[in-house]
Amino acid sequence: MVIVHAGDFIAKRLAPAVLKNDGKQTPFRGHPVFVAQHATACCCRGCLEKWHRIPKGRALTPDEEAYVLKVLEQWLHNEMSKLA
Ligand SMILES: [Zn+2]
Repeated sequence: MVIVHAGDFIAKRLAPAVLKNDGKQTPFRGHPVFVAQHATACCCRGCLEKWHRIPKGRALTPDEEAYVLKVLEQWLHNEMSKLA
């Protein structure tokens, strides 16, 4: 399940307050979730702040994590329905 991976990526790469390589933590290829993250501006805390108004410098709340996951899930659903 792709979306299970998404939850894992978000928890490890986006949720922490301080990120080592923010802006570079999400590769452009290798997993559909990476593509979804860039397409929906959920790839780094800079984009989350700019496009989703989630401030950086603090950890994501569980609600915000759930929100990001929802955005990714919807995008992936959409893309998959285009392929079908
Ligand atoms: Zn970004």
